[in-house]
Amino acid sequence: MHDDHNHGQGGHEYGPEHHPVQADAPSVEPQIALMEQALRELLLKKGIFTTGELHRSIERMEALDGAILGKKVVARAWNDPEYRSLLLDDGPRAIAEFGASLGLPEFRVVENAPTIHNVIVCTLCSCYPRGLLGLPPSWYKSKEYRSRVVREPRSVLEEFGLALPPEVEIRVHDSTADLRFMVLPMRPVEAAHLDEEALAEIVTRDSLIGVGLPLGSQ
Ligand code: FE
Repeated sequence: MHDDHNHGQGGHEYGPEHHPVQADAPSVEPQIALMEQALRELLLKKGIFTTGELHRSIERMEALDGAILGKKVVARAWNDPEYRSLLLDDGPRAIAEFGASLGLPEFRVVENAPTIHNVIVCTLCSCYPRGLLGLPPSWYKSKEYRSRVVREPRSVLEEFGLALPPEVEIRVHDSTADLRFMVLPMRPVEAAHLDEEALAEIVTRDSLIGVGLPLGSQ
């Protein structure tokens, strides 16, 4: 058993100068970050909104579960073996069947199995398949998660309430600006009778990142 970390696969090709390494920094180009800062300061100065309102608004957005497309994709893969194969072979094409595009050079779906559990991270910043999962949760962007999940994935998952048996190998996938991952969790045995729509309901965002399991999993 080993905790496989495929750091460097694909590589952060933009390099540090375009992809700054800052503690908990969002993954945005410096120019965009500067424009956002200027606009935010102007709106605060003009009294359009207060800092408190801004923070509450961000908290609301973070609390919204934006993983709607990701859930639908997983539910279809559970229900349709052909779609599952497509999703694992060619993620972008499988997403295109829902009329969506992530607009990324590479998108890969990694499948959990009885002895393999996948978890995603972006060690450099916060690369995340937003088109499928919505806004990344703040812990995903935290320096602590980014560094620790690579070194001690089993302990980090336990802190999320996910205690995996020792025989389960944990594979940590490091996302980059060009390459994003999504986990295809295992379908809970109890969910065998559910249709696609009901299946989508039991898929959680955290199960698509790999720090949780679908509802009803044992
Ligand atoms: Fe990143």
